[in-house]
Amino acid sequence: MIYLNGSFIPIEDAYISVLDRGFIFGDGVYELIPVYSHIPFRLTQHLCRLQNSLDEIQLENPYTDHEWTELIEQIITNNEGDDQYIYLHITRGVAERNHVFPKKVMPTVFIMSSPLLVPSKELAITGVSAITANDNRWLRCDIKATSLLPNVLLRQKAVESNAIETVLLRDGFLTEGSASNIFIVKDKLLLAPPKSNLTLPGITYDVVLELAEEYKIPHEIGDISENDLRSSDEILLTSSTKEIMPIILLDGIKIGSGKPGEVFKQLYKYYQDFKVAIMRGNLL
Ligand code: PMP
Repeated sequence: MIYLNGSFIPIEDAYISVLDRGFIFGDGVYELIPVYSHIPFRLTQHLCRLQNSLDEIQLENPYTDHEWTELIEQIITNNEGDDQYIYLHITRGVAERNHVFPKKVMPTVFIMSSPLLVPSKELAITGVSAITANDNRWLRCDIKATSLLPNVLLRQKAVESNAIETVLLRDGFLTEGSASNIFIVKDKLLLAPPKSNLTLPGITYDVVLELAEEYKIPHEIGDISENDLRSSDEILLTSSTKEIMPIILLDGIKIGSGKPGEVFKQLYKYYQDFKVAIMRGNLL
C-alpha cells in the first residue's frame, strides 16, 4: 500500500503522468527513513532535512510535520514487517515541458514502504570492500534531489568491481560515498569530513558523532585528504539502510590491519544499543 497524491492505494494501481517534472527533469527531492519495530528513526531530523531540500529547490512543503507524521504512520501500519524503510518523494508536479517553474501547480507526493534489510552481522565481522572515484557530481550535494544519475553511475562502478560502495574524492579530498557518508580513524581519532554543499548531511553521520561524543571516543571534523584516507587505520561507512559498516579494502588495498578496527566495533555496538533504546521507547 502506497500513498500517492492524497490516496492510499496498492502500488500496482499507482500511476503518474509522463509530464511529471520528476520524470522529465528529476525536479524533486526525497527522504528515506528507517523504521525499527514500527518506530520511524529520527523522524524529526529527516523531516527537517526534507524541509531544507524543499527550501533549496524553492518548492513549498505540501504538508506540516504533523501531517507527514500521520501519513508515515499510516503507511507503516498498512505494510507488513516491523522493520521497514519509508521512501518519500515530492516533485514539482505535472506541467507542460518547460525548464521554468510552472505557476500554480500541485506537487506530486509519493510515499512507499519496503522491508528494511540491514547488513548482516557477518559483514560487521568480516568488513567490506570499496573503490574510489572522482566525485563528478554537481555542487549542491547537500540537497537530497531525486536526480541521482551521477550517484547511480558511481555506485554501479562499485558493484562491477565486487565492492559495496564508491568512495568519492573531489580535488584531492574525501567527500562521501555514492550513497553514504564516510569517516576515517587515524591514531584512534575518528575524523569526519565537514558538512558542506559537497555532501549530504547524513542523519546517521549525526548519530555517529553524537555517539562518539557521548561515549568519549576522540573525534574531530575536518578536511580529509586522499592521503589521509588511504593511510587511515579504519574507514567507516554510514547510511540509514547500511547503518554503520567497516571498509577493510579500498581499491583492493588493505586499510589498517585489513580487519574491522576497534573504533568501528565500539560504534557498531553503541549504534545497535541506541536502536534498541529507541524501540523500547526510551529515546527518539
Ligand atoms: N550521502 C549520500 C549521497 C546518500 O545518498 C546517503 C544516503 N541517503 C547518505 C550520504 C547517508 O545519509 P543518511 O545517513 O541520512 O541515510
